[in-house]
Amino acid sequence: METLYRSTRKTASQTMTSSQAVLQGLTPDGGLFVPVTLPTADFDFDDLAQQSYQTVAYEVLKLFFTDYTPAELKACIQAAYGDQFDDPAIAPVTKHGKQYYLELFHGPTIAFKDLALQILPHLMTTAAKKNQLTAEVVILTATSGDTGKAAMAGFADVDQTKIIVFYPQAGVSAIQKQQMVTQVGDNTYVVAINGNFDDAQTKVKELLNDPELRDQLATNQFQFSSANSINIGRLFPQVAYYVYAYAQLIKKGRIKNGDEVNFSVPTGNFGDILAGYYAKKLGVPIHKLICASNRNNVLTDFFNTGLYNRQREFFLTSSPSMDILVSSNLERLVFYATGEDAMQTASLMNDLKTTGSYQLTSTMRHAITDFWAGFVTEKQDQHEIQHLYAHHHYTIDPHTAVASAVAKQYQAATKDQRPMVVVSTASPYKFPQAVLTAITQQPDLTIDGLAAVDQLHDLIKTPIPATVTALRTAPVRHDRVSDPADMATTIKDILNLD
Ligand SMILES: *Cc1c(COP(=O)(O)O)cnc(C)c1O
Repeated sequence: METLYRSTRKTASQTMTSSQAVLQGLTPDGGLFVPVTLPTADFDFDDLAQQSYQTVAYEVLKLFFTDYTPAELKACIQAAYGDQFDDPAIAPVTKHGKQYYLELFHGPTIAFKDLALQILPHLMTTAAKKNQLTAEVVILTATSGDTGKAAMAGFADVDQTKIIVFYPQAGVSAIQKQQMVTQVGDNTYVVAINGNFDDAQTKVKELLNDPELRDQLATNQFQFSSANSINIGRLFPQVAYYVYAYAQLIKKGRIKNGDEVNFSVPTGNFGDILAGYYAKKLGVPIHKLICASNRNNVLTDFFNTGLYNRQREFFLTSSPSMDILVSSNLERLVFYATGEDAMQTASLMNDLKTTGSYQLTSTMRHAITDFWAGFVTEKQDQHEIQHLYAHHHYTIDPHTAVASAVAKQYQAATKDQRPMVVVSTASPYKFPQAVLTAITQQPDLTIDGLAAVDQLHDLIKTPIPATVTALRTAPVRHDRVSDPADMATTIKDILNLD
């Protein structure tokens, strides 16, 4: 059956195919694309347990991208999940202490966004061909650190595309910054923003929806699209690793087919965990999805009270990819909480825009009890890293540590004994200073960047990923800086528009 897409904010009368939705990114009314009818899957997990990541990905993607031919989808998967990953399993599951860790950091930028952003460019260029698009696709992306680099790694020198990345000047790690400013590719552009991630993301959303700018682009044979986690070409490939992880637990004999498990997910823009929600809807036996936050705990409050309130202090933490006050993908969950009511969803999102908050009704709250939410302080985050290192000789990054610690909070609060899978979103080598600080318990470390990588390596001994080693000799290629208010001008400058 064909899966068509509609907006979270408009009635289902206007629909698009999956390839059109991939090209558009955002719906014309500012809502997000959701399937008109959720596809049904009858996964044979015992069989999937014997299959490769690529095969599992195909079984998932064919449900969501129904206007792609099997050959097209398989080509996209093959290009995305190859030897740019340093583990042939792509998303290996390991066990340390009582918890499982689903390692999603074996790709080119050593963070989980590679799982989606290695495939998105291929889904997009295939979609462009299918829809006889002649304009060049301009990817506009705001990044809290990992998205931008992962998107550029995926799009670099891909035909008929350009990618412009905005990152907050003071909100990313030294390694993240170095990864971005050294990005290769004649079609990649990197801009530092004098502001935080929300400033950049809000402005990018506004520009993607600016009709005047859109017309000006069209006249010049350009078309905007988004690589942010709202694009269905990023969201749905992420469902695959939930299915794969579950199948791997069967393969390893840790669970029987049908046993329920929990996933704890370090959450920022709500893309990763939302993919888990779709996996559950497709029949993966998931009991709870644990929404783990750092001090920016707007989502913890949301799940515990039904009130989403972005009017609060913003903190920079050692898990910067989760320093977010407006989680874009949450709109999709709100849509399901309202019973797929676009009018109600639009009204709540309008409340958010005009007042900075919205309140779910108790009926809506009852519709989303698949989630449990908690947060950790910086101290608790460091303690979790230190504890795993000291007791299990396993080193995790500060984002993974948020999920690992909140998973334990959940187990203590509920006594739930089901197997717990912690979604591990970055390599410790991506955040060496924070990890060193946690392990050595020296709060005033000044060492950073590649020097910190070397010091961490001396301590934990696990191999330094090749992509980090490459940074040692990579020249800086990008030095643009912009105020949020000047982003439109910067874009026009890059595209040579007047
Ligand atoms: C992006 C990111 C997250 C948050 O994922 P969302 O899909 O935005 O919720 C967590 N950890 C790392 C390392 C990330 O890069």
